[in-house]
This record gives sequence, C-alpha cells and structure tokens, in this order.
Amino acid sequence: MYRIPLDRVNWITSSFLIGTALTALIGLPVYLFQHGIDAFQFGMFAFYLVATMMSITLGYHRLFSHISFKAKWPVRFFTLVFGACAFENSCLDWASDHRRHHKHVDHEGDPYDISKGFMWAHIGWLMFKLNPEPPMDNVNDLRKDKLVMWQHKYVHWIGLVVGLIVPTALGYGWHAWHGMDPWTGALGGFLIAGVARIVVAQHCTFFINSLCHTIGRQPYSSGHSARDSAIMAFLTFGEGYHNYHHEFQHDYRNGVKPWQWDPTKWTIWTLAKLGLVEGLRRVPDGKILLAEMREARLRAEKHLAELREHAPSQTFSDAVHEITERLAANYHELEKAVADRVHLSREVLDRWQAETRQMMRELNRMRETLAA
Ligand SMILES: [Zn+2]
Ligand SMILES: [Zn+2]
Repeated sequence: MYRIPLDRVNWITSSFLIGTALTALIGLPVYLFQHGIDAFQFGMFAFYLVATMMSITLGYHRLFSHISFKAKWPVRFFTLVFGACAFENSCLDWASDHRRHHKHVDHEGDPYDISKGFMWAHIGWLMFKLNPEPPMDNVNDLRKDKLVMWQHKYVHWIGLVVGLIVPTALGYGWHAWHGMDPWTGALGGFLIAGVARIVVAQHCTFFINSLCHTIGRQPYSSGHSARDSAIMAFLTFGEGYHNYHHEFQHDYRNGVKPWQWDPTKWTIWTLAKLGLVEGLRRVPDGKILLAEMREARLRAEKHLAELREHAPSQTFSDAVHEITERLAANYHELEKAVADRVHLSREVLDRWQAETRQMMRELNRMRETLAA
C-alpha cells in the first residue's frame, strides 16, 4: 500500500500550493459569476502573468541559472521582484535546484527527476522534504550579486507586497475612482491578478519539469528525457524546446529556429538592442546541426539493427545500409568542418540538414513498408 510519508511533508509549501489552487478554482468562478471582469482587472492579470512568467524564464532560468547573457541592474531588479511574485522560492534556491537538475538529469540528485514519476517532477518534489537537504554549493557566483542576496533575504515579503497586496490595492483604487464598491474591486484584484495568476504561472513553470520531459520530439539527443514541443513552448514562454535546452544549456535561445515560438528569446534580443543586456551566448549553427545529425545517425543505426532481423530481402537491407553509411559519412565531414572551425554558410548547412531529413524520411518509409 502506498502511504504518504507524513514526517517528510513540507507543510508550508503544500498548504500554499493547495490553498492557492483551491481559492483559484472555487473563489474565482464565484467572483466572476457575481461581478464579472472589467478591462482593468483583465489588463492587470495579463500584465502580472507576463511579468511573472518572463521573470522566471528570462530571469531565474536563462539569466541567473545559466548565465546565458549579462544584464544591467534594472533587468536583474525587475526579474528578481516579479520572480518573487511567482512564489517559487528565491532566485538563489531556484538556480541551485535547477543547476542540479541539469547536472544529474533523470538520475538521483536531480531534484525533479522525471523517472520518479510525472507528479513528482511536477509538484511532488516541492511538497516533500528531502532528507538530508542537499548543500547549496553550486551558486557561489550568484552570492556575489547584492540584488540576488537582497531578494533571497526578503523574497516572501516582496512576493506578498508586490504580488498580492499591490493588485488588491489597485483593484480597490480603480473601483473607488469609478464610483463602484471598492471592496469588490479589491477582492477582484486579489483573486484575479493575485491568486489565479500565481496558480497559472506556477503550473506553467512546473510543466517545464513534468510535460517538457514527457511529450514531444528529441531531435538533438535521446540521451536524456527532455523534449521539444511547440505546444509546451506556447504555455511556457518558449521553454518548451527543452531537448535543445538540455543539449545547449548556455544558449540564450531555447527555440533556436526562426519560426519557433520563443518570446523569452525575443525579449532578451530586444533588451540587447536597448543596451540593457549584453553578451548573448549562442551555439554555432554547425555544432547544432552536428547534434541533430548525430541523433539522426543513432536512430538510423537502431532501425538498421531492427531491419536486419526482419528484412524481407537483401536489396531492402542493402538500401537501409546505404542510408546509414551516407549519414555517417556526412556526419564525419561536418564533424571535421566544425573541429577545423571552417566557416559554413547558411546554404551549406541547410543543404546538409535537408539531406539528413530526406534520408530519415526514406528510412521511415521503409520501416512502414516493412510493418505493413
Ligand atoms: Zn529539464
Ligand atoms: Zn535550464
């Protein structure tokens, strides 16, 4: 029988997570039914949601955890203040957990290890204490940042004031100014831009640890559970291209292709143009393609091994063998070019990529014929 280990329950965190979720699920519909929502309340919700999510993805994650770019103090200050409003712990705690996640992904030592189950990776890891708590010895660089340390000390106060009291007060003021019942406005501000926004932002962040390690493709590596998914990218402000991110964690981009939905990347790029951030780190295109080709080759070799067992004819198995050989030859050629730091033009890379894709399609067609 499965039993909840009561002695390990993190009561404060668990009560907060369950309390806010229940308030949003029950309180919000009742409020909306009785009072509806006006443009001001909706605008405040949208601003707070974007500010909170962006502070987690751009600030906590890509800036502080991965140092994928450098930021001037206004950006650090904004993301630390609104990051606190997500009630996901201080940036220092968050970055420490996250760096351990990358280092030990899918294994003991990964705080949100997906191999312990979907619910553990999503929320369970927050609701139960680990004994003993791992030391925070991987964030010494961040300890030198005074703003980070200030936020670490006052994180709950900042979250409470900016994340809950301010929207409540603004709701009160807006209603009072327009001759409506101010307490109704205050309750709306608290429930909509406060509690409901916290719940939405939290679960969208938790999805990165649960769904982004469960659904989607693995074009860059199947050596870990992280996956790329456009749907997840939409829900997580661009963090859904998680397979890429785990391969190249210091790249400020997660959706590396121009058509991929990554508003966090676009914001960092815009801030760089405004001179507020600098030193954006990018993995060279050749290296990215090399990872894709390595993965394609591995997959092709796996298919080949399968086909060898069941191939209906010698010609069939020869055809697959030829594809595998061509993939390997292309891979080695590119590997050499990357190692020699040869400049590869966009056209050359595109041609290589197109050829790899075409071979993979051919291979899949052969497998389907075989399965039929
Ligand atoms: Zn991950
Ligand atoms: Zn990361």
